[in-house]
Amino acid sequence: MAHNQFNNWLRGMHRGKIIAKKGRHKVIECIKCGFKHLYPIPSKSDLEKFYRNKYFTLIKKGGRAPEIRRLLKCGKEALREKKWLQSTLYGDIDYIIKKNILSKGRKIICDIGCGKGDFITYMTRKGWEAIGIEPSAEIRFSQKLIIYNLSLEEFIIRYPEYKNKFDAVTLLNVLEHVSNPIETLRIVKLLLKPNRGILCIRVPNDFNKLQYLTENKLRIKEPWWIAIPDHINYFSFESIKRLLESLNFKIIYYQGDFPMEFFLLMGENYVKNPNIGGLCHKKRVNFELSLPDVERRRLYSTLASIGIGRDCLIFAKS
Ligand SMILES: [Zn+2]
Repeated sequence: MAHNQFNNWLRGMHRGKIIAKKGRHKVIECIKCGFKHLYPIPSKSDLEKFYRNKYFTLIKKGGRAPEIRRLLKCGKEALREKKWLQSTLYGDIDYIIKKNILSKGRKIICDIGCGKGDFITYMTRKGWEAIGIEPSAEIRFSQKLIIYNLSLEEFIIRYPEYKNKFDAVTLLNVLEHVSNPIETLRIVKLLLKPNRGILCIRVPNDFNKLQYLTENKLRIKEPWWIAIPDHINYFSFESIKRLLESLNFKIIYYQGDFPMEFFLLMGENYVKNPNIGGLCHKKRVNFELSLPDVERRRLYSTLASIGIGRDCLIFAKS
């Protein structure tokens, strides 16, 4: 192979330092992608099968994505969870997008990976025209909502009329799950109105300094935040911003949320004892609901500026 050919071949390869291992899986700091991800990457067809037929059943059984499990339940717990999300995450997204949007009149938003559609229900109440895309075949959707039950790739092929259509697109805890986040973001860019559409992304803030501190202090051997095969990509504020900028998105705002590692460092070891997890979550909810929105956002954006927060919430313009 000629030298140039070899360099091109190398550039196309996922490669980089191994930073963690869990079972037979590795996480690499990928030079090609600029963020951390599992290696090897699970195949697209395996993942499609997993999300279409298994994911929500696994969540209901417990052991992963407790925030979605609480929402899927009926009764008081789900109601409390919805109220909290509406007062914090959903409210922040509505507020920040509206603050940065230029277009007048009724606006249209698309939530990719919308699950049952709690977020689009909220946004509809806030005056948006809201649609969702969700590939799972395990969910029964409300007839009142506009939800396309297919993958994003299928959606853009079947409904080209939605190109350049959206004032905003949200990807809430989606990018960590997809085999090719760069491809996903390229499709999102096609859906947004050129130069003025707003993208909102929420991903876990993984391999952060509080996690490393906790790992050392509590002598936890395996990184508990690695979830296989669901979580393929592991972002930080820096790497998600870099990725967006490399695709010509312009960052307009970012914040974190409650650093759940605080509980671990205070001696509430929910990694060793998952029963404590629910209690820690309740405390976090109480804390967040006690703060005025503006103060909570100020606190979480300040913490984000030093890389702290359990999740990253980023807003960017197309
Ligand atoms: Zn890569």
